[in-house]
Amino acid sequence: MSILILAEHDSAALKAATLSTIAAAKKLDLPIDLLVLGEGIDAVATQAKNIEGLRKIILGDNAVFKDILAETFSQAVLALAGEYSFILVPATTFGKNILPRVAAKLDIQQISDVIDIESPQRFVRPVYAGNAIQTIETAQEKNILTIRPTSFNAVALGAAQDTPVEKKEFSLTPPRVRFVGIEASKADRPDLSSARIVVSGGRGVGSKENFKIIEELADRLGAAIGASRAAVDAGYVPNDYQVGQTGKIIAPDLYIAIGISGAIQHLAGMVGSKVIVAINKDPDAPIFQVADYGLVGDLFTILPELHNELQK
Ligand SMILES: Cc1cc2nc3c(=O)[nH]c(=O)nc-3n(C[C@H](O)[C@H](O)[C@H](O)COP(=O)(O)OP(=O)(O)OC[C@H]3O[C@@H](n4cnc5c(N)ncnc54)[C@H](O)[C@@H]3O)c2cc1C
Repeated sequence: MSILILAEHDSAALKAATLSTIAAAKKLDLPIDLLVLGEGIDAVATQAKNIEGLRKIILGDNAVFKDILAETFSQAVLALAGEYSFILVPATTFGKNILPRVAAKLDIQQISDVIDIESPQRFVRPVYAGNAIQTIETAQEKNILTIRPTSFNAVALGAAQDTPVEKKEFSLTPPRVRFVGIEASKADRPDLSSARIVVSGGRGVGSKENFKIIEELADRLGAAIGASRAAVDAGYVPNDYQVGQTGKIIAPDLYIAIGISGAIQHLAGMVGSKVIVAINKDPDAPIFQVADYGLVGDLFTILPELHNELQK
């Protein structure tokens, strides 16, 4: 019995979500192989050697993997699948795009968005936007899991290990899709998915112009900016800022919710945050039920005061 993890990386380094997936895999207490696919990815393999406890790193360094196409990546995973009892990927857009294809081809029930591993047969996952927690027991011989990265602390990168690196050639059926382009959002601020501090604004902020007050606080704290769906729908901020059931699921050290009521769909995306601060003028706003610190008052009064204090 052993585990295959498909690594998510940016050709230079592993994404934090991959390090969390490795942490999850360690709970299974089985040999772990890390599959790295891409083009010109030696740096990723070198970095992966700094992770303790990997049996080997499998490197598929080929131009066909230059662009992330689920059609090619899933073929590579399928080529190796026979040897493994577990296949794990992060439950990110990357993993969610690739793994269901693998599960379907193998005719296996995928177990998605795992937040805890109780044993090699028992897994915990949220359902109904996090309103219920489901424990699953599987009788499948092979299991395919997507791992929610925010539920597992990333493994540390330490001293270089002598983990073997196996270069692998894959013979793939040419995909019937073609990579055309990617438009990645550029931001000077930390990435919302992995930021330690997130300052989020909701409908209460009132307008796109008013959102500057949120940006100022975020910049002072070195934080990423998030938003509720109402703020996104109203056009205050782009939709990749959205936190929640249909947005990003995050768990920063500090989440500051400003002018956000705390609808269940919003909570689904941030309730795992270590410390939650809410600023809202309505003392009965549901956000206060999950907040560690609550400030009842007008955000347009509180934020300038907070700004002045932080400046001191
Ligand atoms: C299928 C589905 C999926 C959804 N997915 C998401 C999701 O991913 N993320 C998400 O966020 N929502 C999601 N929603 C929408 C969700 O139900 C709420 O409508 C939304 O979260 C409300 O956003 P809000 O808290 O900003 O707005 P509101 O609920 O309108 O709350 C605004 C808050 O601001 C406060 N306020 C107003 N003025 C001030 C002021 N001057 N100072 C201080 N406080 C003030 C008010 O007291 C109020 O509590 C989803 C809904 C559905 C049906």
